[in-house]
Amino acid sequence: MLEHIVKSYPTIHSSPLVTLERFNFSSLYIIKGSDQSLRPVLLTGHIDVVPAVFEKWSFHPFSGTVDDGLIYGRGTIDNKNSVFGILEALEHLLSTGKQPKRDLYIAFGHDEEVMGLYGAKVIAAELKKRGVRFAFMMDEGCPVLKNGFFPGVSGPVGLICIAEKGFATIQLSLEHPGGHASSPPPNGGAITMLSNAIVALHNNPMPNLFGRGIEVPMFEHAAVSQSPFFRMLSSNLWFFSPLLSFAMSLKDSTRAQITTTFAFTKISGGVKDNVLPNSVSVTLNTRLLPGHTLDDVLAHIKKVVNDPQIKVDVIYSNEASEISSTESEGYNVIHHTVKQIHPDAVVIPGLLIGGTDTKWYGELCDDVYRFVPSFLGTEDLKRFHGHDELITVKNFEQTVNFFHHLLTNFDKSFEVELHDEL
Ligand SMILES: [Zn+2]
Repeated sequence: MLEHIVKSYPTIHSSPLVTLERFNFSSLYIIKGSDQSLRPVLLTGHIDVVPAVFEKWSFHPFSGTVDDGLIYGRGTIDNKNSVFGILEALEHLLSTGKQPKRDLYIAFGHDEEVMGLYGAKVIAAELKKRGVRFAFMMDEGCPVLKNGFFPGVSGPVGLICIAEKGFATIQLSLEHPGGHASSPPPNGGAITMLSNAIVALHNNPMPNLFGRGIEVPMFEHAAVSQSPFFRMLSSNLWFFSPLLSFAMSLKDSTRAQITTTFAFTKISGGVKDNVLPNSVSVTLNTRLLPGHTLDDVLAHIKKVVNDPQIKVDVIYSNEASEISSTESEGYNVIHHTVKQIHPDAVVIPGLLIGGTDTKWYGELCDDVYRFVPSFLGTEDLKRFHGHDELITVKNFEQTVNFFHHLLTNFDKSFEVELHDEL
């Protein structure tokens, strides 16, 4: 892949403005800007993909088959679309002889799907050592969703994610005297006790924070484009929170935006049909809303489970991100660029429910945004990490066009900012 990129973009790889550094299989491009008094910007993407089950695909997932206006391939929407969109736009910019004003950093991780420990983490540590600080960064994130995603908005909605959820893998386990299945104890034994804990947590989710999180700017920005009824609700969030929270909770895609979720993903216990097990465990995967910390979640679990015999261990955790500004130059420039490509889209801030490499770069940036110029229906969302991942030829063109405009807009927008500073 790295050789293919070098061969395909000769201008980038021979430009005196560009330096390329490798960190394991990850790449960091630094494009020298003409004005060193301006703070740099970071764009990121990742070249790695999740596995693909070949038999389930219409075409081989690594063939890049173009059929009937559709490009099939693992990575076409996660996240080689961003990587090649950025490269195409940069190759074009440099081939026209233009030099950006600000230093532009472009980082392509090679292990984002498995935490970025050898890619983004290493690059971020190196940049921190060098004292680099970014005005803002943009990584992969939410797309432009076709019709009907947001309550009261009939057209497409572009979501610029200003925060991302945290993530924790927590194990609940129980050691209990086993015994013969012919004489079970009154509490049913270890499996029953752990099952009670699972059901209790399912029935008692984390408290709803609706009205105190990122849905506030989300609804404020959406209000102007909503139908009159929903506009009235959104403009009076202080009063209608319960109603809007209910409307958002009806669909999986919007419910995850407003709650800390609990998902039980693995369970084990028992070795023989007629023996009560003496050790059982279950894995809980939770995605934390900004506003809920890991400590909040652990306190909640202990309170709801209310059984000191059940051990609660954190296997892995990553707190929710900070919330970035919707007033910043960075937000404005992304917002403006989305509107150039999708003039009919309503562009609002959102929350990314998955995780990205931004967890490593966050502390180097004033603001962190997550956006991909994909144009998707809610039915396409299953293609992320699923079968028949594809992008339309038209949407890939829009992706290149988006990054072309974004690179150009960086300078235009920053002139305004510079002027304001002066
Ligand atoms: Zn991704």
